[in-house]
Amino acid sequence: MIAAFDVGGTRIKIGVLNRSGEFISPFPRSIPTPSEGLKEKLNSLILEIRKNFPLEAVGISIAANVTREGCVLHATNLPISTPVDLGQILMEDLGIPVRIENDGNCAALAVSRFAGVSPEDTFVVLTLGTGVGGGIFYKGRLMDSSTGAVAELGHIVVDPAGPLCGCGKHGCLEAFIGESALVARYNISSIQPLETALQISERLEAGDTEALAVARFAGEQLGRGMAIISDIIAPRSFYVAGGVAGLGLPFLTAARESLHRQCFLRLLNRVPSVEFVREAHLLALKGAWVLVS
Ligand SMILES: [Zn+2]
Repeated sequence: MIAAFDVGGTRIKIGVLNRSGEFISPFPRSIPTPSEGLKEKLNSLILEIRKNFPLEAVGISIAANVTREGCVLHATNLPISTPVDLGQILMEDLGIPVRIENDGNCAALAVSRFAGVSPEDTFVVLTLGTGVGGGIFYKGRLMDSSTGAVAELGHIVVDPAGPLCGCGKHGCLEAFIGESALVARYNISSIQPLETALQISERLEAGDTEALAVARFAGEQLGRGMAIISDIIAPRSFYVAGGVAGLGLPFLTAARESLHRQCFLRLLNRVPSVEFVREAHLLALKGAWVLVS
């Protein structure tokens, strides 16, 4: 059996899966990400699981920049001092294979295995939440890099005159459609402020016009980012996951139209498709399983 973890800024999702990728009860479950001692917490979680399940390997998806060798180089929202050879340290402590990978890349791995894409496909997964990230499959292979920073799709600049991003640049995709940016945008125009993208989705379903405007704006910006990506690698498809994807059809339609207007491939009638991913909340966790299965 395989233990899989999806380590995010607010929660750690935990799974134990069999060789076929099926969750074993009572998994999946999740716990809050600790405010300190992430490495120790992961170690104790794995030891706890091992008491009840014969573990063969551990896969970890993490919201961080990670080298091919499993060294965590940089993590903005996690209680971990970097760089740290997290994969190697856990492997030595546990005596079983441990692989660790960026969460956007794990999402792409999961799509490659579960979304019915053909083995030679080029596609892009975009994860839209607090941060904006993703992963790229190029001709059937996950694009990786020895530098540990590949497919930083949230930091593509879609408008240099745009708002300041957490990375220090102006006008990154994340600065426009990261969850906090969308919530702030909604709150400027609404007399009933809110706190999450989920709440924007709920108001959208209730017919709120400000929520509809935010969904269309987010789609327009996403389309700009996808057009830039598209002009470089010409993917067949974009798969969209994450909490912001809850903005639904108005968001998706605006994204498709924006991509169509702005990507070169329109001249060849080869504009990539844009789809939501099913069961997107478990995508990175399933990708962590793919890492070691
Ligand atoms: Zn940025």
